[in-house]
Amino acid sequence: MSPRLIVDNTRPPQQHIRPTDCFVDDDGRPIAGTPPPEPCPFCGSGSGSLTVVHYDDGPCPYYAVDCTRCGCEGPGCDSAVEAAQGWNRRAEGLRS
Ligand SMILES: [Zn+2]
Repeated sequence: MSPRLIVDNTRPPQQHIRPTDCFVDDDGRPIAGTPPPEPCPFCGSGSGSLTVVHYDDGPCPYYAVDCTRCGCEGPGCDSAVEAAQGWNRRAEGLRS
């Protein structure tokens, strides 16, 4: 028995989008079309603590950005991209 080379071809090809360049979903995958995340207006966390969560367990499913560090939540929207844009608008509005 000779050792066989095990090739892991189950992983997707390398992404050109780095996680810090856009929002990620709750599995840590970058979401195409989302802008670079504004830091959390309450605790200052950057993209590493911000995820877009899909709440689909109620009668009105929605997407919202969650800060996993302080637990605050952005505006609820119909799509992940809108939720990301809504988060950035609020973060900018609270800073200025
Ligand atoms: Zn926060």
